[in-house]
Amino acid sequence: MSRAEVNEEKKGYFGDFGGSFIPPQLEAVLERIDNAFQQYKDEPEFIEEYNYYLKEYVGRENPLTFADRLSNELGGARIYFKREDLNHTGAHKINNVIGQILLAKRMGAHRVIAETGAGQHGVATATACAMLGMDCTIYMGKEDTRRQELNVFRMELLGAKVVPVDKGSGRLKDAVDEALNDLVENYETTFYLLGSAVGPHPFPTIVHHFQSVISKESKKQILQKEGRLPDMVVACVGGGSNAIGAFSEYIEEEDVRLVGVEPEEAATLTKGTPGVIHGFKCLCLQDEEGNPLPTYSIAAGLDYPGIGPEHSHLKVSGRGEYETVSKQEVLDAFQKLARTEGIIPALESAHAVAYAVKTAPSMDENDIIIVNLSGRGDKDVNEVRLLLKEKEM
Ligand SMILES: *Cc1c(COP(=O)(O)O)cnc(C)c1O
Repeated sequence: MSRAEVNEEKKGYFGDFGGSFIPPQLEAVLERIDNAFQQYKDEPEFIEEYNYYLKEYVGRENPLTFADRLSNELGGARIYFKREDLNHTGAHKINNVIGQILLAKRMGAHRVIAETGAGQHGVATATACAMLGMDCTIYMGKEDTRRQELNVFRMELLGAKVVPVDKGSGRLKDAVDEALNDLVENYETTFYLLGSAVGPHPFPTIVHHFQSVISKESKKQILQKEGRLPDMVVACVGGGSNAIGAFSEYIEEEDVRLVGVEPEEAATLTKGTPGVIHGFKCLCLQDEEGNPLPTYSIAAGLDYPGIGPEHSHLKVSGRGEYETVSKQEVLDAFQKLARTEGIIPALESAHAVAYAVKTAPSMDENDIIIVNLSGRGDKDVNEVRLLLKEKEM
């Protein structure tokens, strides 16, 4: 769906999803961010600065690697990997973080706040804040700071202040509430940096914009290498930012299938129903009273009961397909990719790999699949070691 299809009368809607369901004191704050984004996103100087940091700091453009041994072993479609795992900090999140911080600077902010569950978005934010000279405060549920000790230390090394939140259940939702309170109090100096394609308008649109660099590059690269577009693009879906970035340039190419992959245990799009969580309308896993249901995934980045509004719309309109894979399929794909291609993927990304492994053999050998490798797996190696040991016993 092009930006033009965003329903302007109902601001920030993708079909029936999105919008903003927020306390009145936040409305003016988010409108200010939306206005600044509209003002700067197409400005040549802004684009030039963004591209400068993507090249010199993140290391873009990253390759579209043909997986020769994996494709041969599976038989069937030819598989390419878009290598977001090779970015500085090891994942796609930095694309969005740098874009939003540059926007914050244009707005006169000198302080960035964010909330993080597993810590990956917090680390990416602290990293780019250090590089761009911004104060950085990260809110994190107290329970999560215990489970993610090493990421807390990383953020502190990078100069960020990590605030453990022990209100409520001490989890992500409580950290979001604290960050929003901070924003309402300090909006003149402070920018709230959202890490995925979720949240109230204008965040899903901003994140789409900055992550679309993934498919802008992959489209150019596949045309150079194969002289044609892929038959299928596959990406894992947590909140939906790497997937929307991997899909965006293909949404209007109707012959390209777009497949988002979720964990069986957090199958938001496969099993969710329309509801409002965290300030926006989407398909989500909820109880009869509309409270978010607990989810669980071996990949912390996919452990979220909602999903971005644009994916909700792609699903309902039929343009996007959303599938699940099991924990076992993910662990198998993780090891298979390591052995055949010498790439250890993030557990999140291994969901997309698992779907490609399952699907490629039934496709034609002239077909092309692009799998978005959203991140590298160094962070997950110990977790996988323990999971595999558990199975032996
Ligand atoms: C955070 C993360 C994800 C999930 O977030 P999305 O917004 O759905 O992309 C996926 N892969 C990696 C490597 C991540 O760090």
